Amino acid sequence: MAVPKRKVSPHRRGNRRAHDSLKVEAFHECDNCGELKRPHNMCGHCGHYNGRLVLEPKGL
Ligand SMILES: [Zn+2]
Repeated sequence: MAVPKRKVSPHRRGNRRAHDSLKVEAFHECDNCGELKRPHNMCGHCGHYNGRLVLEPKGL
């Protein structure tokens, strides 16, 4: 079994945990229409991505 060579000091442990409070958000507001959308995905409501119309929204 792999075993750590040294005990992690309180300082290093604190550095590692410094980012623990950052949470991954599953949904973000669309920049174009404000609807909730998945990050890095085209908005399913208005068809925009990165400030650009990618796909015409249905029903227009
Ligand atoms: Zn949108």
